[in-house]
Amino acid sequence: MEHTKNLKEKLFRKKQNGWEMNIDKEEIQNFSKEYISFLNKAKTERECVKEFTKILDENGFQNIKNKENLKAGDKIYYINRQKNIYAAVIGQEDLKNGFNIIGAHIDSPRLDLKPNPLYESEDLALFKTHYYGGIKKYQWVNIPLSMHGVIVTKDNQKIEINIGEKDDEPIFTIADLLPHLSKQQDKKKLEEAISGEDLNILVGSIPYETDEEISEKVKLNILNILNKKYGIVERDFVSSEIEFTPAMKAKSLGFDQSLVAGYGQDDRVCAYTSIRALLNVNNPKKTAICLLADKEEIGSMGNTGMSSRTFEYFINEILNKTIGNKPGLLDEIFQNTKVLSADVTGAYNPNYPSTYEKNNESYIGYGISIIKYTGSASKGGASDANAEYVGYIRNLFEKNNIAYQNSEMGKIGIGGGGTIAYILADKGTDVIDCGVPVLSMHSPYEITSKFDIYNAYKAYEVFYKDE
Ligand code: MN
Ligand code: MN
Repeated sequence: MEHTKNLKEKLFRKKQNGWEMNIDKEEIQNFSKEYISFLNKAKTERECVKEFTKILDENGFQNIKNKENLKAGDKIYYINRQKNIYAAVIGQEDLKNGFNIIGAHIDSPRLDLKPNPLYESEDLALFKTHYYGGIKKYQWVNIPLSMHGVIVTKDNQKIEINIGEKDDEPIFTIADLLPHLSKQQDKKKLEEAISGEDLNILVGSIPYETDEEISEKVKLNILNILNKKYGIVERDFVSSEIEFTPAMKAKSLGFDQSLVAGYGQDDRVCAYTSIRALLNVNNPKKTAICLLADKEEIGSMGNTGMSSRTFEYFINEILNKTIGNKPGLLDEIFQNTKVLSADVTGAYNPNYPSTYEKNNESYIGYGISIIKYTGSASKGGASDANAEYVGYIRNLFEKNNIAYQNSEMGKIGIGGGGTIAYILADKGTDVIDCGVPVLSMHSPYEITSKFDIYNAYKAYEVFYKDE
């Protein structure tokens, strides 16, 4: 009998809840506390860049623009238009042998303002929004929203805005229809019940005080308040990037405080852990790079998205300031480079068992997820890591006691998704998706496991340091 049990132990894929492993629970809780505090400070890509720059500055990293030459051990970063950032620790080995790169993204689904957002209807002032990323619209009504971003005025002043996060500041919300009058709305399909044009944010209701007979006095009052506070006029919204995000605070979840609930954990959970891991990298053999992209949620386009040549520019700058550059060197480096595309995946949700194929899902609390390929039913659009590279990654994790799981996301044909992986694969690197499983992904309140978060941090550290 005992013999058979041993045989099973030897042959079966091991599945173990992370909390039952030999772990330091206090360290996991402490790390999560710092992560939660970060989530509450950085809700947009711009706020992430700011927060990460601060962390990097405090830990001996310097802006590459201020360095004439670079040598092994140097720690540098590059900020691209305040919305995406790359950080690197220069390795001792010849740079042409390739880098160890971890790439995550710092944009998250949200509600952006339209260029002409403000209007008045029956003495209420509202903002028109244009949602960003894949959201289930019904989740975004009747929740507290905060306002973040920048407005550029006609004399090119950049006004930074952040309202609704502090306890003494007002919040905003979208008013949904009451159930008493929802008979028609209730009959609609979930995805049609609330349309993009219904996502109008309530921002005020007091008319401007005047004896004159004028129209739109509530809108005027709001513009007057904004003008007094920020010096802006209505036209200035044209040159703005204003994002409304959930105003709820990120918090510990559960009686056992094992989970984190918070907005924007896709993909800030991987961004934060990959930056934190880079702080532990000193004098590596291979040059270690953490890249944090913008625009992943809408296809990675644009000059701050992963498809931009700005990343190549950063690598070229490193080459110019170390061994000197030459034609073809960048391509040679990419051929020899290993990448983790650090992005979250959907965790098994016990409320919807029929959505999942239980043998091939990611589970909350079982460690970091390795996703060989993403894509959809036909594997269309998938970035598919080759077996050799998957082998390298799993052996690296097993050697270093990293808890990992391998998964797809949901049953075949039920949906799908993508990450920045294929863009880095296109450059010629070896790349695989590897991130934290998330419940309620893309909702205003996403859920992760503190074990998985800490485990991702450890996984990313061993990857950067691998020779
Ligand atoms: Mn993501
Ligand atoms: Mn996403």
